[in-house]
Amino acid sequence: MDPKALHKISYGLYIITSLKGDQINGQIANTVFQISNEPPTIAVSINKKNLTHEFIKDSKLLAVSILAQDAPLSLIGNFGFKSGREADKFAGINYQLGDSGLPHVTSDTLAYLDARVIQEVDAGTHTIFIAGITAAEVLKEGAPLTYAYYHEVKRGSVPKTAPSFVPEPKEKAVSEKYECSVCGYVYDPVAGDPENGVEPGTAFEALPESWVCPVCGVDKTAFKLM
Ligand code: FE
Repeated sequence: MDPKALHKISYGLYIITSLKGDQINGQIANTVFQISNEPPTIAVSINKKNLTHEFIKDSKLLAVSILAQDAPLSLIGNFGFKSGREADKFAGINYQLGDSGLPHVTSDTLAYLDARVIQEVDAGTHTIFIAGITAAEVLKEGAPLTYAYYHEVKRGSVPKTAPSFVPEPKEKAVSEKYECSVCGYVYDPVAGDPENGVEPGTAFEALPESWVCPVCGVDKTAFKLM
């Protein structure tokens, strides 16, 4: 089996939120699909280890915030590389609570969907939640962020708990790329980090000490030469 074949599947990128009692949490997921028109129904695949999974199991409610193409890596890192068990992921985030109490991220998103779970399918590492849409609103116009754009243009990384995670075979050190030991983000000096003011062609050593991983926020010392 060639795992690279799986890279040819196209996806979007979303913040999935849920609640349990008066707690709220959210995470990044690439697996959200509309699977039926009447009634409007979606499927969302969530890793069983994640706190959001526990919340959806408990409340049977979930919301999808659809990320805009220009959403910053830091927003994706906040929801994708931190655990709600250790940090309040909504601190400093613009969001609103819907009628059902579900949080919708209102910055760098195009729309939200609220849904109630009607069926759960055990899929090994993940549960597929099939859910009927109860509310939906467009927040602004624009291009939605796709998984391919996140990888190829924004050069974002993927946590090991994502369904699409495929370990990369290690290449020989032919250039001065550095990898974040926390999230797997690769700093490529050819590309720089323009979103954070680092010009293409900037060597890793030349990055300012204040520079942090654009995805997960750790400092330079957490990076290793690839
Ligand atoms: Fe990182």
